[in-house]
Amino acid sequence: MGKKEFSAIDYSICDPKKCSKDGICLSAKACSYKVIKQIDGPFEPPIVIHDLCMGCWDCIDACPLKAVYKKRIV
Ligand code: SF4
Ligand code: SF4
Repeated sequence: MGKKEFSAIDYSICDPKKCSKDGICLSAKACSYKVIKQIDGPFEPPIVIHDLCMGCWDCIDACPLKAVYKKRIV
């Protein structure tokens, strides 16, 4: 039951103002499933709706600061 891996954000690294001029999360933009969202708007770190993550890892490739990583549930 359930997925074993999903993407997660390292909030000690994530800094939206460093990755785009308009404060838009590039990983959120890259996620076709809208699983990463800036619910508080531009310039705020995104959240990941873990249950909906498809494990495609497009978000990891898209993050210039490498703040997105694969999290494993054991
Ligand atoms: S997750 Fe990556 S791309 Fe998204 S706001 Fe944070 S640093 Fe920028
Ligand atoms: S791994 Fe894919 S589905 Fe999951 S948050 Fe990243 S881009 Fe979206």
